[in-house]
Amino acid sequence: MSTYTNEQVARLVDGSLDWETTFRMLSMPKDGSRFEQYLAALQAQVKFPDRIVLPLGPHLYIVQSAKTKQWVTQCDCGHVFGDYRENWKMHAHVYVRDTEAAMTEVYPKLMAPDTKWQVYREYYCPSCGTMHDVEAPTPWYPVIHDFEPDIETFYKEWVHMPLPERAG
Ligand SMILES: [Zn+2]
Repeated sequence: MSTYTNEQVARLVDGSLDWETTFRMLSMPKDGSRFEQYLAALQAQVKFPDRIVLPLGPHLYIVQSAKTKQWVTQCDCGHVFGDYRENWKMHAHVYVRDTEAAMTEVYPKLMAPDTKWQVYREYYCPSCGTMHDVEAPTPWYPVIHDFEPDIETFYKEWVHMPLPERAG
């Protein structure tokens, strides 16, 4: 029994909740149907025919390609960032804000960080220009690969759903 209605889940999809909260809610055990609902709501919203395996962010997903059955990281717009095990950021457009002027332009609330110690890296979809992530590392820090989700375990142990087929 799910404690969430389809409508409430659809509101999650709208982005009225931040991603971290959303993911924490979805990851709560013993309520697998919530994830299933969430996937269905997401799937209804996107325009591509590929099946969503795992959302990575408000506009970024791991999907099962409708054509090849391979799992890839994909944008809302259908742009493919490559195999789901690869770091999608390596295939994104990157904008680095490494001057005080560039930073305060979009992050005015911050106390003008010292650009010797911190820069902002923004990752954009090369096709539609959606920003998928921002990092605030030290300038020399390599591109951060957020996490490699254990999708098999997630499907089996947490949400109790059959794992979508995967080629390659
Ligand atoms: Zn895109």
